[in-house]
Amino acid sequence: MSVLSSEAVVLRTWPVHEADLIVSFFTRDYGRLRGVAKAALKSRKRFGGALEPMTLARAWFAERPRQELVRLDQLEIVRSPLSAPVDHTRMAVLSFYAEVLDEILPERDPQDAVFRLLVSVLEQTDAIDTVPGSSNARDLGHPQQGPWMALTYFSLWMTRLMGLLPDTGHCMVCGEALHGAEVSFSSYADGLFCGLHANGSASGLSADSWQLAQRMLRAPASTFAGEPWPRKRGQDLRRFTLQTLERHLERRLKTAEALARLGG
Ligand SMILES: [Zn+2]
Repeated sequence: MSVLSSEAVVLRTWPVHEADLIVSFFTRDYGRLRGVAKAALKSRKRFGGALEPMTLARAWFAERPRQELVRLDQLEIVRSPLSAPVDHTRMAVLSFYAEVLDEILPERDPQDAVFRLLVSVLEQTDAIDTVPGSSNARDLGHPQQGPWMALTYFSLWMTRLMGLLPDTGHCMVCGEALHGAEVSFSSYADGLFCGLHANGSASGLSADSWQLAQRMLRAPASTFAGEPWPRKRGQDLRRFTLQTLERHLERRLKTAEALARLGG
């Protein structure tokens, strides 16, 4: 039984038996896997804080004969969400990433582009904590960059990488080029619509959000790091991508409700 190793991000854990944990983790080289971390609840030493969801780590694990779950042997932390001060918004955003990935990624199917997206948005999600004086940004009413930009970028790109995002530059019905004014989306159909073809249940996508989507689909997340980002910015774009993801999953995402309560 050979031990395999890969970069990985922990998505979710749940207890099983006495002191074991089942771990859902997304590896760069093997895709999403589920494994057993033996005695993880008893011996904190072996895994340390590495089982915290959204920890980026180097993982060592082994296939077990005739078993669906791999044996998770070791995790070595590369980047921990616990290294930044606890912030409710950031934690809610991290939980959202975990739920989306856990639900949407097929098991044992490597998705390198998704892995790269995740690593880059994790960096941006934490970025607020490294800006001097930013811990009070919200209290002072300053535009809060931080997790909202990263969340918008992640949601948009996940719909794209999962093949759920049709051409955002043209109306789904008539194919006319959209220009950012009078663009709308529907909770019942993929894609965007022009003013003429918006149906009764349509919601509008603001010109800023439409342009943002065009730019985000062409540039890395770090490009947007310096931009002012009040919480409301891109809110309609996030709603559009969330509806697309939920329609595909055929269920509501629990963590999206927490984000909605935070105004996301
Ligand atoms: Zn149209």
